[in-house]
Amino acid sequence: MTLPLANPGGCARLPADSAACPACLNELFEPGNRRYGHAFITCTDCGPRDSISHRLPYDRAHTSMARFALCPACQSDYTAPANRRFHAETLACPACGPQLQLLGSGAATLAGEPIAETVRLIQRGAIVAVKGLGGFHLLCDARQPDAVARLRARKQRPTKPLALLVPNVASARQWAQVNDAEAHWLDARETPIVLLDKQPHSDAMLA
Ligand SMILES: [Zn+2]
Ligand SMILES: [Zn+2]
Repeated sequence: MTLPLANPGGCARLPADSAACPACLNELFEPGNRRYGHAFITCTDCGPRDSISHRLPYDRAHTSMARFALCPACQSDYTAPANRRFHAETLACPACGPQLQLLGSGAATLAGEPIAETVRLIQRGAIVAVKGLGGFHLLCDARQPDAVARLRARKQRPTKPLALLVPNVASARQWAQVNDAEAHWLDARETPIVLLDKQPHSDAMLA
């Protein structure tokens, strides 16, 4: 929406970023949906806010989305009061929104579908930098000790823990002990990094 939130002190502030909501995740994985596989899927309930805003008030023209003009279908979503994306400032689709690109170490664009090719590179032991909302994530396969060692050397981070990415709470439980409060935070729309105790067998699984 276009209105910034007001805090008790009376100063306008930007709404926080939010992970994709369940409705958007359903569309993301629904073959035939026009946003199927669209990495930048959002609606009024989710998506980037603070990270892509340049100034108040929170409005598309004041965000990084300003240069992406809405296609007719997205314009229809934006102007229909009953639509989930009515006045969603970040809405887009594959026809009109940002596109993914995979660049090699020399900054040349690599061939292939970017996500599939990135997965293939990680599986082969590569370290990739994924541009997210708040900066770059350096990613490698945590199950490949050589790749982790290279990442630690490049980051000059020999012992400090690295974050593990998992798709859901069930997956997290394979590696870590998760109580109810921790499960709540793992599922929270802020998607915070959650500090967890390892499972006794975790190190053996990663060896
Ligand atoms: Zn959503
Ligand atoms: Zn569109």
